[in-house]
Amino acid sequence: MASSKSSISRRRILRTGAAVIGGGTAALLGGGAGVAQATPAALQQSGNVAGRRFKAMVTRGFGPNTTSLQELRLLPISGRQVVVRTEATQCCYTIVGRMLGVQAPPNPAPGAPPPNLNPNQAVILGHGGVGIVEAVGPSVKRLQVGDRVIVGVTPECGDCYQCVRGRADRCQVVFGTPPDPIIPIAEMADGTRVVQATNIGGFAELMVTLDEWVVPIFTNAPAAELAMLHCVGATGLGTTMTLAPVEPGSDVAVFGCGPVGLSAVQGARIMGANQIIAIEPIKARRDLALKVGATTALDPNAEGDNLLETIRELCKGATDRRFSGARARAGVNRGPDFIIEAVGGDRVKPRVEQGPDPTGIGALQQAWQLCPAGGHICTTGIAQQGNVSFPGGQWSNGSKSHHSSQWGGTHLKRDIPRYVKLIERGVYDAKALVTARYPLEKTLEAFEAVGYRTTVTAVVEFT
Ligand SMILES: [Zn+2]
Ligand SMILES: [Zn+2]
Repeated sequence: MASSKSSISRRRILRTGAAVIGGGTAALLGGGAGVAQATPAALQQSGNVAGRRFKAMVTRGFGPNTTSLQELRLLPISGRQVVVRTEATQCCYTIVGRMLGVQAPPNPAPGAPPPNLNPNQAVILGHGGVGIVEAVGPSVKRLQVGDRVIVGVTPECGDCYQCVRGRADRCQVVFGTPPDPIIPIAEMADGTRVVQATNIGGFAELMVTLDEWVVPIFTNAPAAELAMLHCVGATGLGTTMTLAPVEPGSDVAVFGCGPVGLSAVQGARIMGANQIIAIEPIKARRDLALKVGATTALDPNAEGDNLLETIRELCKGATDRRFSGARARAGVNRGPDFIIEAVGGDRVKPRVEQGPDPTGIGALQQAWQLCPAGGHICTTGIAQQGNVSFPGGQWSNGSKSHHSSQWGGTHLKRDIPRYVKLIERGVYDAKALVTARYPLEKTLEAFEAVGYRTTVTAVVEFT
């Protein structure tokens, strides 16, 4: 947890160092490696971690059996780098294909960061986790050794075009062109340099990242539950709570009840939705949706072509008396006020109930068709290649608002600390969504469970 009694506040060190050299701007703004190195206490704070050995799942090349457990040697850190001892990381469905060797890199997901990784590069996959800061580079000012932190899937630098205009969920540190260089952080026994996916990784005892990817959290909540927040949980919560906030008393439909959809169900509940209609082919997931807040759970296979009409009928309201404030007059404009799409395409064929459309395109099309005038469509799933079509008149004048939801519109520093509070209060039930836990050496088994959809969320825990 936080720094021990004997350790000194890093902020105090920086102030002291600044006073000693008679002008602290360089140190405080991060340009002062020399300044920090001039203070022995600062060295103590940064920690001497170079050469430290740690275990990691390393992926090299493409195909089955290209990911294996390796012992690595940490390279020296500098500048804005932060070393985090991983406590837990969640197994995101988006990297099932690469982990299991059934999808060639780079992942061509639309909206994903531009590929900047040689497929043959030795890489630690993953995109974030929860852990404890072990060391910081001399330019890091927001974090202290001992801080408990979340390393998020998307950074918030605070300075780029998107951050300053209030769209940190598109921070150009990761979505810029050209992408930031990938930094080697460790060596294998044969001297091969190892990098991490988008400079964050996760499936390793240590993550080495840059300070804009890290937010301190001050909590004793269980690590596996906090691991819901570095990607999928924040996506579902953000989609319903920040990007297009669900209005109290409104009707919400959630397509897909994996960890993103089940978090969206909870976000809608937290925001005070009237109805939350979950649409999901897997019975165990429908049951879980009802447990965490859905008011109705529908099986799209059983509903077939009647699915949208069933949902519209549920949302028609208690009366059709228009002048009494009702919206369902003569069948017009019925439907949910908010439609959350969290389906995506299948990377591998499920070993449980399969959905009606393995491409994920069908759910996107249905979300559009279902949305009434004045409604909101939030899309989060990563579908396979394909097109969604709209009637021109509705596209231009149908008053349907679409919100494309990268990480649910989450701003790392703004949103993660308050989502932690929701876990602490039990308002966001992260525990119910963590349905399987694995040690690092069983990471591939964890991804099989996630990929074949035999579990909802797998988390790799470190002891
Ligand atoms: Zn993810
Ligand atoms: Zn930024």
